[in-house]
Amino acid sequence: TPIYTEDDIIGTITLFHDITQRLANQQELVDAKTQLEEANHHLNELARVDALTGIANRREFDQNLSSLWKSSYRKKERLGILMIDIDHFKAYNDQYGHQKGDSCLQKVAQAICQSCMRPDDFVARYGGEEFVVLLPQTAHEDAVYVAQRIQQKIADLAIPHPKSPVNPVLTLSIGVCNMVPHDLTSEQQFIDCADRRLYVAKNSGRNQICDQD
Ligand code: GH3
Ligand code: MG
Ligand code: MG
Repeated sequence: TPIYTEDDIIGTITLFHDITQRLANQQELVDAKTQLEEANHHLNELARVDALTGIANRREFDQNLSSLWKSSYRKKERLGILMIDIDHFKAYNDQYGHQKGDSCLQKVAQAICQSCMRPDDFVARYGGEEFVVLLPQTAHEDAVYVAQRIQQKIADLAIPHPKSPVNPVLTLSIGVCNMVPHDLTSEQQFIDCADRRLYVAKNSGRNQICDQD
């Protein structure tokens, strides 16, 4: 602040504040916020991802199906779903133990992901030894083709499974459903359809794909 005489400035009053501490506090707050954001991001990941296989979990699947169902309905586009179940996996666990069983689940998850080429294809662990694939904008025969590719990939891995009555290597059964969502169908009916066909594939001898009733 200037100090005036009648027509001149003869000095100033200057006040200094040491704000080092205040800046340090601000920085601490910024750091804490960053840490919180990182923790939040990590929590979000945990909520969406299956810990064993690293692919999407059931919860993420439910959300994704809901939004894909709505967008396919709006755009009148075909949506495909594959319900996949490992054949006689209990016997595999019984023979090789849970750890080998777990690593087998990881290999199967990877093989399924590698067989789904389009960026919008979505793979999730549905639960236990079951996986599910959503194929937006995909014709029926193309969904069946993806199912065949998955089976082939698993066959190529040739994971020994001597206790399986189907085949001495690990196999999958797959139920395929494909539709344009409309007013008379629901997401649940869509899942039920794939589930029903998976059941038929199982009952018809396993290691096969069922794509119609
Ligand atoms: P099916 O051909 O009829 O499908 O026979 P399955 O033996 O595969 O089916 P079942 O439902 O009788 O058994 C599923 C087995 O999957 C039971 C359990 O040992 C195994 N399983 C489920 N989740 C896990 C997991 O997270 N890790 C391991 N290692 N095994 C699991
Ligand atoms: Mg099962
Ligand atoms: Mg099974």
